[in-house]
Amino acid sequence: MLTLTCPCCGITAEETEFAPGGEAHLKRFGPDSSDADFEGYLFARKNPKGVHFERWRHAYGCGKWFMAARCTATLEVFGTYAAQTTKPPADIVKKIKAKRPEWEPQA
Ligand SMILES: [Zn+2]
Repeated sequence: MLTLTCPCCGITAEETEFAPGGEAHLKRFGPDSSDADFEGYLFARKNPKGVHFERWRHAYGCGKWFMAARCTATLEVFGTYAAQTTKPPADIVKKIKAKRPEWEPQA
């Protein structure tokens, strides 16, 4: 079972207390963008086997959104951080690199 810690209220709970919100750190494209860019923003997702950054909401707790870095294959959680963050925090990237030396952050 996936266990997450909400960075907003500090509660650690099983995933049933949270609601998934999809991939984190998406580059958003609006109506002024090209059709290909807008389509990519709406539909294209990485869906990797391994390290992944996701949005989660503490649905049965404080109700706030946050980001989580986890492995999709093993459910190992590398850390959670505020939803207002535009890219993964350096301490979480360092923690991932320590456990998965072959992993490279994607742009
Ligand atoms: Zn919370």
